[in-house]
Amino acid sequence: MRRQRGTKIVATVGPASAGRAQLRALFEAGADVFRLNFSHGSHDDHRKVVTHLRALETEFEHPVAILVDLQGPKLRLGTLAKGPMTLKRGQKLTFDLDPAPGTAKRLPLPHREIFAAAQAGSLLLIDDGKVRVRIVAAREDSLDTEVEVAGTISDRKGVNLPDLVLPLSPLTPKDRKDLDFALSLGIDWVALSFVQRAGDIAELRKLVAGRAAVMAKLEKPAAIEHLDEIIHQSDGIMVARGDLGVELPPEAVPPLQKRILAACRAIGRPAIVATQMLDSMVHSPTPTRAEASDVATAVYDGTDAVMLSAESASGDYPLEAVQIMDRILRSVERDPLYRRLMDASRREPEATTADAISAAARQCAHTLSAAAIVTYTTSGSTTLRAARERPDVPILCLTPSLETSRRMTLAWGVHPVRTEDAHNFADMVQRAVRLARREGFAAEGQRIVVTAGVPFGTPGATNILRIAYV
Ligand code: PGA
Ligand code: MN
Repeated sequence: MRRQRGTKIVATVGPASAGRAQLRALFEAGADVFRLNFSHGSHDDHRKVVTHLRALETEFEHPVAILVDLQGPKLRLGTLAKGPMTLKRGQKLTFDLDPAPGTAKRLPLPHREIFAAAQAGSLLLIDDGKVRVRIVAAREDSLDTEVEVAGTISDRKGVNLPDLVLPLSPLTPKDRKDLDFALSLGIDWVALSFVQRAGDIAELRKLVAGRAAVMAKLEKPAAIEHLDEIIHQSDGIMVARGDLGVELPPEAVPPLQKRILAACRAIGRPAIVATQMLDSMVHSPTPTRAEASDVATAVYDGTDAVMLSAESASGDYPLEAVQIMDRILRSVERDPLYRRLMDASRREPEATTADAISAAARQCAHTLSAAAIVTYTTSGSTTLRAARERPDVPILCLTPSLETSRRMTLAWGVHPVRTEDAHNFADMVQRAVRLARREGFAAEGQRIVVTAGVPFGTPGATNILRIAYV
C-alpha cells in the first residue's frame, strides 16, 4: 500500500462513489482519506460507506481515515410562492421571519440570528454570491434591501452575510444529531463548517471528547481574523475555498490559501486545500490546464492534502479525478524546486525534546540518504512533529493505537502502521527495520532513522534517535 508521494488525497464520497467496488477503486488509485459530507445523504447511506471502508482496511491491511463534514450553521432562504424568481437591479425587497412563501416584495429568511446582527450597509448574498443585495434598513424582524447584482433565485438557496459575525451556535440541532451518529460509527476526523471563533472548535471538541480529531473549515472572514487561535485549537484545518470565495472576493482566496498553509505548517497542523480543484472533471475525463496548475500550486504551497468534492462524489469521472490528482502530486514532488521550497520554508524546531529529535532525524536522513524515518508514537504527535520538518524521505508512523493510525493517514509524508509498542531497545530497532522492509520503504543495506521514547510504552516521551541498517 505504499504511495509514491507525501501529499495526500481526500475524496468526497457520494452517489458516484459510495459502492463497495467504487470505493475500492478510488482507494487503490490513491484516495487516502474519505470525506462523508453530512450536508447530503441519509445516515443509512453513510453507515454503508463506513462499513465498506472498514472492510477495505482489513483487505489491504492499511488504515483509512474517514472525515465527517458537519453542515454547520448554513443559512438558507425559505420557499418562493411561484417557483424561481428573477430579481432586477435596484429592486426593493424586504426579508422577514414570516414563513409564508416569498413574493417579488418580500422573502422569508427563517433565521432570527440574522436580524439580531444585521446592520444597514451590510451585504446579503444569495446562491453562492450570484445575487447580491444591500441592507438599507435593519429592524428586529425585517430587513429592507436593494438588489445590487441581479439574478434568479429559487427555494432554499444558500445565504451568506460576509460582513457580520452572527451570534449563531456553531452546531445546529442537526449537527448534534449527525455528530452523535458519526461518532457511534467510529469515524476519525470531524470537520465543522462556518467556524467563526476558536470557541466554536472548543465546543465541538467538548462534544467529541477524544473520540475523533477535530478540524476547522475556514470559510468565513471572521475565522481569518482569529486564524492563529483557531489553528491552535484544531487538530487540522480545511481551506474551504468554496464558501471562502463567496464571503470574500475571489482574488482574496489565493493569498489566504498561502497564509493559512504557512500558519498550519508553522505549528504542525495538517491542512487540506479544498473545493473546485478539478471542477471541470465533474463532466470531463481530463482537467483544464488551470486546474492541474491549481492542484500543483497547493502542493508547492506545502499543503498536507488536496481534496476532491463533486468530482468524486457526484461527477462522471471519479476514478479519473483521483488518478490525475495522484499524477499531479507526484509530478510536483519530483520537481527539485518543490524540495527547495519545502527546505526554505522550514521553521525552527520549538524548544522541546520531540522537536530536537525530529529536526535531527530529518538532518540524519538527509545526510545519510536514509530510506525512511520511523517514528514510534501513541497519540501521533511525534509523527506530526516529524512531518512538520518536511524531510526528503517518507515517515513511518508505528503506533499501537488504531485511532492514531487512521488519523495520521491525512498527514503529509506519513505512512501509518499499527503495531505493538517496542518492548526494549533491540525490539525497537528490529521492529522498525522489519516493518520498513515489509511496507516497501527500505531494502537490504539501506539505513533508516528511528525515533522513540524510553522508557518504552510511556506516551509523550520521544527522546532517542537511532540509525539502523536494514
Ligand atoms: P462545503 O465546504 O463543500 O461543505 O461547502 C467546502 C467549501 O466551502 O469550500
Ligand atoms: Mn463550505
